[in-house]
Amino acid sequence: MNEINLNTPLIQISGIAPRFIAKLKKMNIETVKDLLWHFPTRYEDFSKIYKIAELIPNQEATIQGTVEKIKSRRTWHRNLFLMEAEISDDTGSIRAIWFNQPYIKNVLQPGRLANFSGKITVSRKDGDIYLSNPTYELVNTHKIYHETKHTARIVPIYPETRGLTSKGLRYLIKPILNGLTEIQEIIPYEILEKEKLLEINIAIRKIHFPNTIEEALIAKRRFAFEDLFFLQLINVRERLKLAKEKSMPIKNELEKTKKLIKALPFELTLSQKKSLWEILQDLEKPRPMNRLLQGDVGSGKTVVAAIAALITAQNGCQAVFMAPTEILAQQHYRTFKKIFPEFGDGLALLTSNESKTRYGHELEANTKKTCLYRGVSQGKIKIIIGTHALIQKNLIFNNLTLVVVDEQHRFGVKQRAELVKNKEFTPHLLSMSATPIPRTLSLTIFGDLDLSLIDELPKNRKQIITKVVDPKNRNKAYAFIREQIKKGRQAFVICPRIEPSEKKEESIQNNFGLWVNIKAVKEEYEKLSKKIFPDFKVAMLHGKMPTRNKLAFDGKPTKEKIMRDFAEGKIDIIVATSIVEVGVDVPNATIMMIEGADRFGLAQLYQFRGRIGRGEHQSFCFLFTESTSKTTHQRLKSIVEAKNGFELAEKDLRLRGPGEFLGEAQTGMPDIAMKAIQNPDLVKSAREAAINILTNDPLLKNHPDLHNYLNQFQKQVHWE
Ligand code: ADP
Ligand code: MG
Repeated sequence: MNEINLNTPLIQISGIAPRFIAKLKKMNIETVKDLLWHFPTRYEDFSKIYKIAELIPNQEATIQGTVEKIKSRRTWHRNLFLMEAEISDDTGSIRAIWFNQPYIKNVLQPGRLANFSGKITVSRKDGDIYLSNPTYELVNTHKIYHETKHTARIVPIYPETRGLTSKGLRYLIKPILNGLTEIQEIIPYEILEKEKLLEINIAIRKIHFPNTIEEALIAKRRFAFEDLFFLQLINVRERLKLAKEKSMPIKNELEKTKKLIKALPFELTLSQKKSLWEILQDLEKPRPMNRLLQGDVGSGKTVVAAIAALITAQNGCQAVFMAPTEILAQQHYRTFKKIFPEFGDGLALLTSNESKTRYGHELEANTKKTCLYRGVSQGKIKIIIGTHALIQKNLIFNNLTLVVVDEQHRFGVKQRAELVKNKEFTPHLLSMSATPIPRTLSLTIFGDLDLSLIDELPKNRKQIITKVVDPKNRNKAYAFIREQIKKGRQAFVICPRIEPSEKKEESIQNNFGLWVNIKAVKEEYEKLSKKIFPDFKVAMLHGKMPTRNKLAFDGKPTKEKIMRDFAEGKIDIIVATSIVEVGVDVPNATIMMIEGADRFGLAQLYQFRGRIGRGEHQSFCFLFTESTSKTTHQRLKSIVEAKNGFELAEKDLRLRGPGEFLGEAQTGMPDIAMKAIQNPDLVKSAREAAINILTNDPLLKNHPDLHNYLNQFQKQVHWE
C-alpha cells in the first residue's frame, strides 16, 4: 500500500471494493480519518479461557480442553438425537451436550484440542454441571501462536449500517492502521503526562484492537478527554474574549431597588433575590455580563429578568426580551404589565403578527411596525419583548444594553451578536433556561457562562399529586378528570411522539414515524372527544398543525389559536404531543395525564408536570404505562418522588445516560464527549487544562497546531 495519512481519501486506497466505498459514504466516512474515528461502541470479551475447575453454574464461559470421548444417543422421553462429549483439561473434566448435531462427531474426534464457549448448566438429573450447546473451535496445535476468530480474543463491535458489518470494518481498519504514517499529536505533552493519557498513535490502535477491555477503556478516555478539552478551550477562549469587550455599566441604587421589590405583588424567594443580586452586580461592571439563569419551571425567572430590564430602563438604556415562541412572548409581555403596571418609559411587543406599544395605564395600542421601529431607534421605547422578529435590519436599537433570551439553550450568545451590529459596546446577556441540566453537562455546553440558580419554588405553590396509574384504573382516572372539569378546571393529555430520525435519506421512514405519532394523538383525540368526554370541549395540538403565518386561510385551527383558546378557558382538554413542553403558563390547568410515560426522559416528564400546579388549585399528574418492567417503574417512581429538577436530571444521567435532557435540541457535542460527561472528574480536568493553557498563552501563539485545530473543531460543533 502507498503511504496513508489521515487525509487520504478511502477511494485512493487500493483494495477497497467500490461497494464498500459507497456504503461507507452513506455513513459519512470518506477519508482515513473518518474511518479511524468511527469508534467501536463496545467490545466482546472472549479472551479469558477458564479452567474447568473454576466454572460456576449459569456463567457464560470459554474453556480449552481435549475431547476424551464422544457418543450419540437418543433421549428416553422425546425422540431427540443427543451428542454427548467428555472434555478435560489439567484441572478436571466436564460434559458437553448438543442436540441434533450428529456431524459434530466428525469434527470433535477423541484427542482433539478445542475451545468451547457456552453456558454452564446444572443437570436436573444428577446436579452435575455441563456445557449446553457450546460453540466450538479447534485449536491448531502445530502453530505456536494460534489466532482464533470466534473465541479467546477481544472483538470490537462497531455502529453498523446495512451490509457493512463489524467484521467487514475490522478487515478494513486493520491494514490501514498498519500502513498509516505517524499522526501528529495535538494535545500538548505536559497535559498527556499529567492526565495519564495515551499518545494519539497508541490510542488509535488500542481503541480498535485492544488486548484487554481495560486497554480499550484507557484509549476511549483519551479521545473523550480530547473532545472535552477542545470544548472547554472554546468556552474559556470566549470568556477571555468577552472580558476584553466594553459594555455600558448599569447603576444599581440599592434603596431604589429595594423599594421596587417591595412594590411587587408577591415576595421574592431567597434564591430569586440572590440571583437578582448576582445579575445586578454583573450589570454594574464595564464588561459584558454572560450569565445563565437556571431555575425549575415556575420558579419565577421572568420576574428576576424583568426587574433587571426595568433598572436598565431607569438608567436610560434599552433592554430586549427574546422568547422562542409567540405564545411565550405574549406571556412575558403580560407578566411585565402585571408586575410593573405603572411603567411608562415605553414597552413594546413585537412578533411577526403583532406590534404593540405601551406608555403606562390606558396608553396601550396596536401600532404599525414602522412606528414601533421609529420609537425604538429614537430611544422612546426602552423595553422590547418579542420573538425572532426582533432580529432584522430595519430595527435599529438605541443604547441596547441588556439582552434577555428565554429558553434558547445554547443560542443566546449568537442572538446577542445578531441583534447588535456596528456596536460601540457589547450588551449584557442574560440567558434563561428551565431545563434542569446536570452540572457536568452545563459546565461543558455552557462553560462560557456564569451560572445563577433558582432552586426553590415560591411558597404559595401546592405540591402536585403525582401517581403512576395502573391500566385497569384508567376509567377511574377519567371519572376523576370529569369531576375536575365540572369544577371548572382544565386538563392536558400528552401522547408520546416517535423520535424523528436524524438521517436525511431516511425521511420516508421519518415521515412515517411522524405520521404514526400524530395518529396516536388523533386516535386519543377521537376517543376522548367522541366516547369519553363528548360533553366537553376537547382539542388537539401537534407539531404538524399550521402556525399562524403559514396556511392561515385553509380554515384549519392554528397552534396559536388552540393555545389561546385553552388559556382563555374555551377548551377543557388539550390532547397534545410533547410540544406543550416549554413555557406555557395556564394556572387553571390542574390535570396532566401522560400516556406512554416510559417513552419520555425523566427531565421531559418533569417539564410536562411543570405545566400544572401554577395556580391556587390542587393539581394532579397521572402517569400511564403499559410497561411492566421493573426499571421503568423505578424511573417513574423517581418522578413521583422528585422535589427538584436538578436532582432528577442527575438521576436521569445515571439511569439513561446523556442525550435525554435537551430533548431534540442539538447540543452539537461529539458523541464521545456526550458519554464522557458522566464522568465529572474528566470534565473538571479538561476544563482546568484549558484554563491553564489559555491563561499562559491566550492567543495560542506558542501552540500554532492547537490553534488551527481548535478553529476547525469550533466549526465542526456548529456553534458558530
Ligand atoms: P419560570 O421560571 O418558569 O419562567 P415564571 O417567571 O413564568 O416562571 O413564574 C411563574 C409564575 O409565578 C408567574 O405567574 C409569576 O408571576 C409567579 N411568581 C414569580 N415569583 C413569585 C414569587 N416569589 N411568589 C409568588 N409568585 C411568583
Ligand atoms: Mg419561563
